[in-house]
Amino acid sequence: MQISSRIKNMPKYLFAEIDRLKWDARTRGVDIINLGVGDPDIPTPEFIVEALVDIVRNKPATHQYPEYDGDPAFRKGAADWIKRRFGVEVHSDRELVGLIGSKEGIAHFALAVANPGDVVLVPDPAYPVYEMSAVLANAEPYSMALREENGYLPDFNSIPADILKRAKLMYLNYPNNPTSAVAEYSFFEEAVAFAKQHGIVICHDNAYSEITFEGFVAPSILEVPGARDCCIELNSLSKPFNMTGWRVAFAYGNEQLIAALRKVKTSTDSGQFTAIQFAAMEGLANPDATVERMRNIYTARRDRVIKILKSLGLECTTPRASLYIWLAIPKIYSSSQEFAMEVLADQGVIISPGVGFGKYGEGYFRISLTTPDHRLDEGLERIRKFMESRC
Ligand SMILES: *Cc1c(COP(=O)(O)O)cnc(C)c1O
Repeated sequence: MQISSRIKNMPKYLFAEIDRLKWDARTRGVDIINLGVGDPDIPTPEFIVEALVDIVRNKPATHQYPEYDGDPAFRKGAADWIKRRFGVEVHSDRELVGLIGSKEGIAHFALAVANPGDVVLVPDPAYPVYEMSAVLANAEPYSMALREENGYLPDFNSIPADILKRAKLMYLNYPNNPTSAVAEYSFFEEAVAFAKQHGIVICHDNAYSEITFEGFVAPSILEVPGARDCCIELNSLSKPFNMTGWRVAFAYGNEQLIAALRKVKTSTDSGQFTAIQFAAMEGLANPDATVERMRNIYTARRDRVIKILKSLGLECTTPRASLYIWLAIPKIYSSSQEFAMEVLADQGVIISPGVGFGKYGEGYFRISLTTPDHRLDEGLERIRKFMESRC
């Protein structure tokens, strides 16, 4: 029996050790507080839940196979949202496709673009799916370091010429997970110009475009003139509408790239449950109150976390977006994995070690703001105890 080299080449899952410790602690009856995972704790808004219940009960046609590439009404709703939000017009049939979550789109997109041996440029630290998608396509991932001193933006000029020659695809993600960095419009202009110069396709993952604070408005890469020649963007209902479990998202941009992605999808999945797409349309048509409420909740949590971390002598900048606080591990540690494992073993609090997001994440850790306030406070209190006894 053979297991494919593709699977054997999959990057090691660095959270596995943390998972094991978590289960150990659970079986010992330890009350675990998970500040590691970025998964909104607040339920999906009632009007979206109500819409789903009504549609499932009253529209049995939705119980049948969905349209592969998203119901036309959903695609229209998504295109209308893009127009209102970014001022960008996309054709809802030709330039947009529905996704079963953006993770699905990311994972499939490398198959649509890269040939075996091509280079895929992936940010590091990053959401692990970018690198995985390259590996699944038998392509070669190349880590673009996101460094604190560059505001966690990649330095395109530092990519070696021989890598650039073979690079066919680049993933970007701003507002960023895990660093919580944001990119201004000018960065996207630079990225598009660079991509065109070197014949590279960009897939911009804009999952956090709505989770922004103090009036920061996250741009779409498609606002850049000419971006449509070489870019697609992904957006998702997961974070703004607390719908991670529903698996509903969409990709939009260059017509040929969308057609290629659609082709991969048509051969691998049969689309998202139509009732979910219809309920999601309610959110896309009426986003403001929900998004405003979520921003206020995360801003308050962010400020609680920052205040305590600062009082413990941990340096961190106040993020303008995302669900995360990203900061350096205490100076007496050299390994983020070791720090995270000790915090878990000692205090039952899960934090994400930076190295789990890539080698350039080493030396940092991530705290997620998706835990209810009283649990977040308790988690921070335990981190305080840990720091006071160990650091
Ligand atoms: C949460 C998240 C997403 C959303 O993924 P879905 O599959 O749409 O739930 C996408 N990209 C990043 C970087 C994320 O952190």
